[in-house]
Amino acid sequence: MVKGVIMKFSEVVVLLEELNKTNSSLEKTRILSEFLKKCNETDIYWISHFVRGKVFSDIDKKELGVANSLIIKAICSATGINEKKVKDYWRETGDLGDVAEKAVRQKTQHTLLSRSLTLSKIIENFNLISMLEGAGTVSKKVALISELLTNATPIESKYIVRMILGKLRLGVGDGVLRDSISKAFKIPKEIVERAYDMAGDYGEVAKISLLKGGKGLKKISLRVGTPIQSMLYIKVNNVKEAFKVVGKPAIIEYKFDGLRTQIHYDKKRNLLKIFTRRLEDVTNQFPDIVKYARKNLNCDSCILDSETVGLSKDKKNFIPFQKLSRRIKRKYHIEKMVKEMPVKTFVFDCLFHNGKALMDEPLEKRIKIVSKIIKKNPDLNTCPRIITSDEKEAEEFFNKALGEKQEGVMIKSMKAKYQPGKRVGYGVKLKPGLESFDLVVVGAEWGQGKRSKFLSSYLLACKHPKKDEFLTIGKLSSGPTEEQYEEITRLLKPLILETRGREVIVKPQVILEVSYQEIQKSPKYTSGFALRFPTLKQVRYEKRLNEVDDLNKVKFNYESQFQGRL
Ligand code: ATP
Repeated sequence: MVKGVIMKFSEVVVLLEELNKTNSSLEKTRILSEFLKKCNETDIYWISHFVRGKVFSDIDKKELGVANSLIIKAICSATGINEKKVKDYWRETGDLGDVAEKAVRQKTQHTLLSRSLTLSKIIENFNLISMLEGAGTVSKKVALISELLTNATPIESKYIVRMILGKLRLGVGDGVLRDSISKAFKIPKEIVERAYDMAGDYGEVAKISLLKGGKGLKKISLRVGTPIQSMLYIKVNNVKEAFKVVGKPAIIEYKFDGLRTQIHYDKKRNLLKIFTRRLEDVTNQFPDIVKYARKNLNCDSCILDSETVGLSKDKKNFIPFQKLSRRIKRKYHIEKMVKEMPVKTFVFDCLFHNGKALMDEPLEKRIKIVSKIIKKNPDLNTCPRIITSDEKEAEEFFNKALGEKQEGVMIKSMKAKYQPGKRVGYGVKLKPGLESFDLVVVGAEWGQGKRSKFLSSYLLACKHPKKDEFLTIGKLSSGPTEEQYEEITRLLKPLILETRGREVIVKPQVILEVSYQEIQKSPKYTSGFALRFPTLKQVRYEKRLNEVDDLNKVKFNYESQFQGRL
């Protein structure tokens, strides 16, 4: 590959093949960093998404929305092979990427390739697919994929299909990409990671690294309208432990059971946006927050961190997050939902105020700014809190929060900076109840009898501590209500990769919070552990795959059982 020359897709495929062949993260970093050095600014942006198995950036709302059935149609259309045969191949291999490779190989034995595919052609068609809406969408999507497959070599076809279906699985996670950018452009890892926390997009970070190096990355700062990673908190078991971590005195706030909402406001630009913890833009879904934030923010610009809690229709009671989560994905009849499920927002932090980033300022100063910029009103509130060094007072506040049906309390250091995306000891959470994990569903079974239309018995997995892989840890068959079975089945059905009798394998995407009574060692699951009596607590819509709990946390909790720590 020569820098400055249009990149052929075949060159990208060589990279993907090489990454696929090695299990070593160090080797992946070496291969990828060499490749990034040779990219131009457009290529590097896209390559950074592709190697992580994504087509678009995390903060981009774009999606391809292509199911297996559509890929089958595109393979048939591009190769002239009939649908029955394509499905037979699929049954044999279980991977539509392999099917595309095989089908295109058969066709190319008879014809000569018309022209070679470029990376920009792939990007063009992916963008077009993501923009399609309304009547005729399916056939237009099939035509755009088929056009790519018609001009692709067999091996290129395999990767195009895997990319579209989100099944590249190259083992390149955020860590490998961060290290590769760092190595390619000789920029310290911490600077690359900080830039990502601010920009929320590795494509953008890689592009700036190439064009402007570390100096350019350092200039990435908070921008009103661009979401940043939320700061996270570690768990403690009691007030004493909390003070040990955060020091005295500490800021103690209610831990509300709601949706993390990052509110971005700029009066001059007439901008008001709301983002979730997954950096999803949910402004359209919450016109009520938009309205009351516009009305009650007394500043020129700000970025606020807050928790939005659902209320009953008469606004008298809080409702659990699980119910509120139905508002997050809503596209239609939003006004009706606003009436049925009103919300209230509790602001607990301010990261930006009137043109100035506040992340390095101490929390005690940031919360004073919050109080200053929010007018007194019933909908947008400052978070209830106390500041104390007294354990008894802290415990009373914790009990008060529980008495008001909140999840518990957050205990935060007065001096804390805002650390995006990190679980640092600047703040801790204290809540009662059984220990739980956030695990991803990788398989399920069709139920029997009255549950026969539901997928049940969910095979759960935790994250590999180093690789982008998931390790099974147990099956969950208790806890879900009828409604939840229906909901989880609806989420899992489009993710089915393979069916074997009543069992299905699904693409890891649906994350469940699962409590358990005990962790046991077990050769039955690939993690080496099994959860005893796993029970569903809730579906974690707001979490991303990289937030699934990893094997280290499982091991830690396993060992803690013997030390009486949990
Ligand atoms: P949990 O499972 O306990 O909800 P989590 O894994 O989702 O935790 P944590 O970082 O452990 O995430 O807990 C912090 C979450 O609690 C935040 O993402 C936020 O949505 C919520 N929260 C509620 N009240 C507050 C508050 N006063 N300050 C900070 N976060 C709060």
